[in-house]
Amino acid sequence: MKKIVVAIDGFSSCGKSTIAKQLAKEFGYIYVDTGAMYRAVSLFCIQKGWLTDNGTVNEEALKQNIQTIHISFKTNNGRQETYLNNQNVEREIRTLNVANGASIVSTLGFVRRELVRQQQLMGKEKGIVMDGRDIGTVVFPDAELKIFVTAKPEIRAERRYKELQDKGIQETMSAVLANVKERDDRDQHRKESPLKKANDALLLDNSDLDKNQQMDIVRQWFLERTKE
Ligand code: C5P
Repeated sequence: MKKIVVAIDGFSSCGKSTIAKQLAKEFGYIYVDTGAMYRAVSLFCIQKGWLTDNGTVNEEALKQNIQTIHISFKTNNGRQETYLNNQNVEREIRTLNVANGASIVSTLGFVRRELVRQQQLMGKEKGIVMDGRDIGTVVFPDAELKIFVTAKPEIRAERRYKELQDKGIQETMSAVLANVKERDDRDQHRKESPLKKANDALLLDNSDLDKNQQMDIVRQWFLERTKE
């Protein structure tokens, strides 16, 4: 079986990470959640007071300090967790506030260039499943398998709402829906690497699919692309 790069892109909360994690687990690939990396930068800025509630970033301070932000992943009890400068921040980065900040800092070219550089290093040896917004278009334009995932906004918000509830993070359904729509809009319309389907990406609309049905499709695509 050929070792490949799998690039999974798509809108917020459309189940990209569920697909990516499952695929990586089944085939022994490394999984990288690039959204977590933008969230970690957002959290770093919030902690420093460089990202205000009205969405203004202290770009100069962030630019000066971008090299001091070290993001890594560790698996604890079978779950991959995100570390910011050696601190486990997995729980903190999942809040709506940090998500919103991530969609703001991710519009900055110098932030994207640094994270893309790190992501490309992680995928050098292939055998990786990476999910995000620009993986098939910018990070790995030559990925052997590219998938673009989408689903109706209301369905995505509902899934995210349940996920947050399960993690004990209290938010209203309308706040979650507004957050999903706002981030989609920002991701699609930003100047730097806007979210769009790569020409050679396979489209997966999972609005009416359950997890097993969706995995059957993705597994088939993966097996086709890894054939020697
Ligand atoms: O995927 P997740 O919702 O965790 O991503 C958080 C935010 O990070 C997104 O709304 C998007 O603005 C940004 N992002 C990005 N490029 C990526 C991954 C995430 O711009 N590759």
